[in-house]
Amino acid sequence: MEIFNSMTRRKEEFVPIEPGKVRMYACGPTVYNLIHVGNARPIILFDVLRRYLEYRGYEVTFVQNFTDVDDKIIKRANEEGISSREVAEKYIAEYFKDAKALGVRPATIHPRATETMDEIIDLVRTLVDKGYAYAVPSGDVYFRTLKFPGYGKLSHQPIEDLQSGARIDVNDEKENPLDFALWKAAKPGEPSWDSPWGKGRPGWHIECSAMNRKYLGPTIDIHCGGEDLQFPHHENEIAQSEAANGVPFVHYWMHNGFLNIDNKKMSKSLGNFFTVRDAAAAYGYEPIRFFMLSAHYRTPLNYSAESLQQAQAALERLYTARDNLRFLAEHGAEGEMTPAEREVLDAAESFRERFDAAMDDDFNTADAVSVLFEVVRAANKATGPDQKPTRDGAKALLGLMGEFTDVLGLLYDKSEDDLDAKVEEMITKRQEARKAKNWAEADRIRDELKAMGIVLMDTKQGVQWKRD
Ligand code: AMP
Ligand code: ZN
Repeated sequence: MEIFNSMTRRKEEFVPIEPGKVRMYACGPTVYNLIHVGNARPIILFDVLRRYLEYRGYEVTFVQNFTDVDDKIIKRANEEGISSREVAEKYIAEYFKDAKALGVRPATIHPRATETMDEIIDLVRTLVDKGYAYAVPSGDVYFRTLKFPGYGKLSHQPIEDLQSGARIDVNDEKENPLDFALWKAAKPGEPSWDSPWGKGRPGWHIECSAMNRKYLGPTIDIHCGGEDLQFPHHENEIAQSEAANGVPFVHYWMHNGFLNIDNKKMSKSLGNFFTVRDAAAAYGYEPIRFFMLSAHYRTPLNYSAESLQQAQAALERLYTARDNLRFLAEHGAEGEMTPAEREVLDAAESFRERFDAAMDDDFNTADAVSVLFEVVRAANKATGPDQKPTRDGAKALLGLMGEFTDVLGLLYDKSEDDLDAKVEEMITKRQEARKAKNWAEADRIRDELKAMGIVLMDTKQGVQWKRD
């Protein structure tokens, strides 16, 4: 399995620290509003990454944080007249609603900054003790950037360039413009915690270093996040963690490309964003997931109505194929598989190999999705109207299709039960229409059911139905 490592800028063979185990960390959202479609890109991608690692037999510990103390949260709290904690609680709950609806499993651990305060303070203290950080009279604590020799290595920026680019603030208490805050002295009306430097709260970067150390250890396998986090956030995480722990922080850095809109990064600050909630109201959640998988994660991806509609149509094809196979698994011919079915299943190993090869090549989900569609096309052909599809054949083909949809986390939306419930509901509506002598409506519902492949049978016991 090869991963493109942003640190070395090349694809590298994946070798875990501990055989059979993967420790991975993703920087999670700052919880002050609903996530937008751009935020959904890393969330969906890293969910697929984790699923694929598990499918390959790894035991994965996946940590994703919630930044629940921050300027933006405090601002939101003041606007709404509630506490920062209430803002964070609210948007963490909203995050989980969206994530679940996008088919994203909860991480192994979702630590919050406010619940990691002891470890954060501990880490800052270690950095001060080692001379990598200093407190200033106001009560802020800064990282002494120039003391850390590798600063700039992830974003490939020579320290001289960074220095000449840094903004110099006249009133600054910092020794150097490149120094960044580990701890910020409390301001009136803001949430704060006791520390050796007085009351205050953590800077943004330190929580990730503290959480990594607490839950995954000093060195982890994979650290991921959007491309925009490389600098300064991840650069600062490296400096903090490596200065404190004295060992390499991360073996593989993975960064997703931007989700764009009209070729500009979708972002809150530009105002060119759609929340996942709104996009899902228009297209459904699962098409958003499918859309993200349709491109390689490092390439830019353009959000548009057409691309979401294409995703809807593609998913519809997958659902139709699965419903058809499910029906045949119950109502197909009994006995031995047909030669056509056997032929597809004989190729199962080669489908798997190509699916794995795509995913092994730096998680090329776009190619993996193509392999899934090849399986679907072959299955449709082998079970078409000109064939005599069998129950055993249909079951085996369902299993094959399911191997791939499970790794990609697709087809989670409409379960068989949902479909049955929908049919029952439509039949009841049709009965009501007939009672009211609304024949046009009754016929319309019957036609709609027919289009769904449902045949109605009027029997003495009432209306019964079957899949055509
Ligand atoms: P933010 O809300 O900006 O802190 O971003 C949270 C996560 O979403 C980070 O991993 C970002 O890199 C990622 N992200 C934000 N905007 C985009 C975008 N337009 N495309 C891809 N990833 C994004
Ligand atoms: Zn982080």
